[in-house]
Amino acid sequence: MDTYSDSLELQWERVCNRMRVEIGDAAYRSWLKPMAIQELAGGTVRLAAPTRFMRDWVIDHYAERLRAVWSEANPLIQKIEVMVQQSRSPVRARPGRAEPAPAPVPVDGAGRGMDGLSAPLDPRFTFERFVVGKPNEFAYAAARRVAQAHEVAFNPLFLYSGVGLGKTHLMHAIAGHIRDHDPARRVIYLSAEKFMYRFIRALREQKAVDFKENFRSVDVLMIDDVQFISGKDSTQEEFFHTFNALVDQGRQIVISADKSPSNLEGMEERLRSRLGCGLVADIHPTTYELRLGILQSKAEQLGVQMPGKVLEFLAHKIAANVRELEGALNRVIAHAQLVGRDITLETTQDVLKDILRANDRRITIEEIQKKVAEHFNVKVADMHSARRARAVARPRQVAMYLSKQLTTRSLPEIGRKFGGRDHTTVMHAVRKVTELCDHDAGFAEDVELLRRMLES
Ligand code: ADP
Ligand code: MG
Repeated sequence: MDTYSDSLELQWERVCNRMRVEIGDAAYRSWLKPMAIQELAGGTVRLAAPTRFMRDWVIDHYAERLRAVWSEANPLIQKIEVMVQQSRSPVRARPGRAEPAPAPVPVDGAGRGMDGLSAPLDPRFTFERFVVGKPNEFAYAAARRVAQAHEVAFNPLFLYSGVGLGKTHLMHAIAGHIRDHDPARRVIYLSAEKFMYRFIRALREQKAVDFKENFRSVDVLMIDDVQFISGKDSTQEEFFHTFNALVDQGRQIVISADKSPSNLEGMEERLRSRLGCGLVADIHPTTYELRLGILQSKAEQLGVQMPGKVLEFLAHKIAANVRELEGALNRVIAHAQLVGRDITLETTQDVLKDILRANDRRITIEEIQKKVAEHFNVKVADMHSARRARAVARPRQVAMYLSKQLTTRSLPEIGRKFGGRDHTTVMHAVRKVTELCDHDAGFAEDVELLRRMLES
């Protein structure tokens, strides 16, 4: 084989392709794709990472595997070294950061133009008030890191989740933290919708140049709900250029969306891949424990004594998202204060009748089985049967996965509804489908489509 006479780039490409299969597309894009191959000298391959954080991560998580894969193809390779790339365009020194700010103008004076662009922050959306649990711990840690880091840790930080799970809360927390601790850093936080609106207005008023200047001179740009600019071509174009300009200057970008970068429909491919090349962190649907934790924390903040039974009841019944959960809690408290009565399980059920009914009416496992069977063209009976052929096993796994996602049933309950299967079978199905969704965009689309059909 003539693998080792191939150029180093070509070898790297092969190694990357192999790694991509092993670690999945998302991890590949986050960590390996941003690496640049530098040289091969004396059996040592040198790679360059854009930041120190990424270098450390790649060394800890992938270097050994990279070496093994590579030396299989080319026995000359003995060692992988990763270093930090010297930035191509050095970060400009900005007044107000290094020097003490000239009194008395600084914060307001310099920032006014910015504040005009930035949306106001909700003072309740802080890190301290964000309850951390399994579903959101990664996103939380990444957000904290961006807020505290003085150098750009990963760019962009891309947060995604379904509605009402805390993206906006975390974005405000980052912006608020930087404003409080590092007021010389200029932060712009705004929704993609506002971004578009301002861009269009600037074009109309022939102030496009000012618009660009304003955005391109910030230290931290945060755009919430970026899916909003899907299909809006000229806004996307402008955003793409702003994005690149800021990244090149070593500024931090934080983005949120309702889907992962690769699943953002109506987004140009180059923008999607740009969005996915930093750190991608998703917030998963809440668990019972997290919901209970959030309720306890909110009740405490409101200074209201709530019976434990009521909180447990709410955490159990209102599973859709945190926004609904908060709404329910507020309603129960407001009602009790209004009529001057204690909060009990009975009053809670009474006050929330309509919400509870809507939650109860939510999708059943039977509906899921029926829809999934139709979609994949198998019999509903195959959802319960013992047949293991892939053609029926895969749809069955998808149905189990959706049952876990869309209903509040436990794993054993779900197993029972699928021909009396064990809960570990359901767990395996959930894991398998998650994995497939990460690796196979077509499959992910199928699952997403089913979810939407069921939810509508
Ligand atoms: P998203 O932007 O993902 O739609 P939000 O950030 O607006 O969701 O969250 C909806 C509501 O739920 C907000 O009031 C927010 O404070 C609250 N919330 C979400 N997650 C948490 C959490 N982990 N701890 C405390 N409050 C939360
Ligand atoms: Mg939001």
